Amino acid sequence: MSLASEKLETIRQQVQYHLDQAEKKQLNPEQERALCDIIKGRLERENAVLIAHYYTPPAIQALAEESGGCVSDSLEMAKFGHDHPAQTLVIAGVKFMGETAKILTPEKRVLMPTLEATCSLDLGCPIEDFSAFCDQHPDRKVVVYANTSAAVKARADWVVTSSIALDVIEHLDEQGEKIIWAPDRYLGDYVRRETGADVLMWDGACIVHEEFKARGLADLKRVYPEAAILVHPESPASVIELADRVGSTTQIINAAREMPNRQFIVATDQGIFYKLQQLAPNKEFIIAPTAGEGADCRSCANCPWMAMNELEILAGVFDRDDNEILVDAAVAQRAMVPLKRMLDFSAQLKLAGKA
Ligand code: SF4
Repeated sequence: MSLASEKLETIRQQVQYHLDQAEKKQLNPEQERALCDIIKGRLERENAVLIAHYYTPPAIQALAEESGGCVSDSLEMAKFGHDHPAQTLVIAGVKFMGETAKILTPEKRVLMPTLEATCSLDLGCPIEDFSAFCDQHPDRKVVVYANTSAAVKARADWVVTSSIALDVIEHLDEQGEKIIWAPDRYLGDYVRRETGADVLMWDGACIVHEEFKARGLADLKRVYPEAAILVHPESPASVIELADRVGSTTQIINAAREMPNRQFIVATDQGIFYKLQQLAPNKEFIIAPTAGEGADCRSCANCPWMAMNELEILAGVFDRDDNEILVDAAVAQRAMVPLKRMLDFSAQLKLAGKA
């Protein structure tokens, strides 16, 4: 096992411990309601807004909606926080999302239920190693995925989300640029195949999407022959090949609403089912298979770090001193450059009717 894998395994065990503890203290509906009321009251008194990612537990997503916040992907979360009048942003998601919100809106206080909620992509791309890698290839443009630390973003020329990755790489390729891509090797491989660009890859992966299995998916498709298969591009190439649509979380939600199929097999974190069911109530959503029976599945389509966003922890979000997101000012200033590039590019795509 490599050092990085060992580190990930240790963290996975710690996260599993937290999840087991959470399971032991499952809340009943009355307890859940009472906690939601407490949190809503605190959000109001603290001039704060709750912004949740699609992969957080359903109770957190419902609370974000009913308290006037939003449920979205990482890019929209940051934009919503920037535009909202609240002075404090409570980000339910993983750490890089809190950092992006803080970089885009430095004058606001950004809190998270726990700063231990991180991401295997962020963990697998430490700044020292990544910076040395970039230094070895000074002729390449550095493109990093949003799922990275503020320091890695600060080292990049471009930041992208999965919804605009293809367009950005196509744009750079048209300009004759060679590219360093980090950290997700599956998404990088997907954009390389689709665009034909010269892409040098960092070796990272999302522990959730990496688990989806092509053989199980093909078997499931035989059980549900009418179902459309929706796949996030962080999944392995063999899984992407079986997809009717490949896209980011937002693009998956849009596909489920627009496509005529009544059934969908979905290869992404199952937290997204809350939004899918809400927006397409008459359709059926089936989770794509992961490692299979008896196998060692590390995520089972459920991100362990997203699952750390529990109501009980959220209830104490204003009372602790270890959960505020702070980003070094110089790092934030440098990271702002590729982030701004991404926002401008995404606005242009919207104007052109491509997003
Ligand atoms: S689902 Fe994957 S990419 Fe998203 S936060 Fe979890 S580990 Fe990171």
